[in-house]
Amino acid sequence: MRQLWINGEYLTGEGAPKQAINPADESIIGEFAWGSQREAELAIQAAKTAFEGWKRMPASERAAMLHEVSRRLRENLETLAVELTLETGRSIRKNRGYVEWSAQCFDYYAELGRHNRGRVIPSPETSQFSAVLKVPLGVVAAIVPWNYPLLLLVWKLAPALAAGNTVVVKPATYTSWVTLGFARYFDHLPEGVINILAGSGRDVGEYLVVHPDVRMVAFTGSTEVGQRIMRLAAEDVKHVHLELGGKDPLIVCADSDLEAAARAAVWGGFLNAGQVCTSVERVYVEQESYPMFLDRVVELTRSLVVGPGIDPESEVTPMIRAEERARVDDQVRQAERGGANVVTGGRIPPGRTKGFFYEPTVLTGVTEDMPVMKDETFGPVLPIEPVKDFAEALDRSNRSRYGLGATLFSSDPRKVKRYMEEIEAGNVWVNDPLIDNLAGPFGGMKRSGIGRELGQEGLEEFYETKHVHWEIEGGIKTWWYPWK
Ligand code: NDP
Repeated sequence: MRQLWINGEYLTGEGAPKQAINPADESIIGEFAWGSQREAELAIQAAKTAFEGWKRMPASERAAMLHEVSRRLRENLETLAVELTLETGRSIRKNRGYVEWSAQCFDYYAELGRHNRGRVIPSPETSQFSAVLKVPLGVVAAIVPWNYPLLLLVWKLAPALAAGNTVVVKPATYTSWVTLGFARYFDHLPEGVINILAGSGRDVGEYLVVHPDVRMVAFTGSTEVGQRIMRLAAEDVKHVHLELGGKDPLIVCADSDLEAAARAAVWGGFLNAGQVCTSVERVYVEQESYPMFLDRVVELTRSLVVGPGIDPESEVTPMIRAEERARVDDQVRQAERGGANVVTGGRIPPGRTKGFFYEPTVLTGVTEDMPVMKDETFGPVLPIEPVKDFAEALDRSNRSRYGLGATLFSSDPRKVKRYMEEIEAGNVWVNDPLIDNLAGPFGGMKRSGIGRELGQEGLEEFYETKHVHWEIEGGIKTWWYPWK
């Protein structure tokens, strides 16, 4: 059984152990300990104590320890990729890449953390020295979802640690088994610098959010939970960093490479069974190209290999749980009742009695008021709509409460320029959706979140800023009291 990892020790939680499930065949892959508020308190206190030493450690020494995490991740790449596939259901082929990318993230922040130490600025007083200091916040709670249990955690952990903070990790219930296993890649760090809990969001998660010794909540997950966290964190005016849901549009202009656009739509819509925060969830196509584009997307969708992630040939892997699949199916059925056409998919693949598979689905004839067009779907469903022109596509793209990512396919620089200036999204792609770059920021606008991960911005989130005004000469100032 995998145990909680607190203050460098493995602990059994107060709760009854839970079973980890493989979404591809519903088999039990292992057991893990289940924590309560008692273990959450132990973890917070361990992180608080460890902070005193970790924040004072020379950045070069911290960097060496973070590089060692990268080395260990790479050394155990295959084991990690298999475990991630077993518990998330996702493709082994992609998971190998995500482990390597996670290792790169630790290397990147190990170095960036050594160079980000504020600045000296001119003082209005000639006898004074003015400096901007960047100091770590303290204990950070990292609360993460199940769809990318390693990568999304590393996007928080690496910069938080590089900046000198200590961390309490709360993984999603569905992926607690794999996450508790990460402890072995961090056990060269001083005790308490990282602590990993398992426990329910409502119980352990909220305990972390409201605890006065937790100075920041770094959260990735649904908009609903993010809103609740923001409300709870308001009590202590805590730092919050929220990476939330999305409803990403893809605009296809008639001047674009239609074959590339069709393939990109299928890739962006069905990768990880659509359970990517930046999945393509709406497609707007200029009218003249619509019939050809739709035919090609449908043809490609029907050719996709649906199967378990452990088979490297599987292209559309299972969803995480039956409940998630039922929620997605409900959106499809509602759309159908409202007049939409299910051109392909829209059902559990015939013959698949085990595993949480759902056929990649293409919808047409949808309207903007349908849940499948306005709420996050987080499943393998691609609604495709014709539009009069680029301006209409841009307008409809922006008519959303979300603003995480957006993609444009066009070869017209005038459209690209207007799009990148006017699209309301934090991640803006042109002619290639879903691409990320560690060196640049990732995050959302509107109800998709606050703050940015990755890049310089992703490190800045984990610092408090101090402005130091130092009177070097000393003496009494003329503007002090008494004035006479
Ligand atoms: P949830 O919001 O349900 O859960 C996310 C995490 O929060 C889990 O660890 C969960 O624990 C915990 N949690 C739940 N309730 C609370 C609470 N009241 N207080 C504190 N913590 C709580 O999201 P999912 O795990 O279902 O993930 C899917 C969502 O994540 C989608 O909306 C997706 O768009 C979003 N996401 C956003 C990304 C981005 O970068 N913007 C990237 C990836 C996903 P438990 O599992 O125990 O309930």
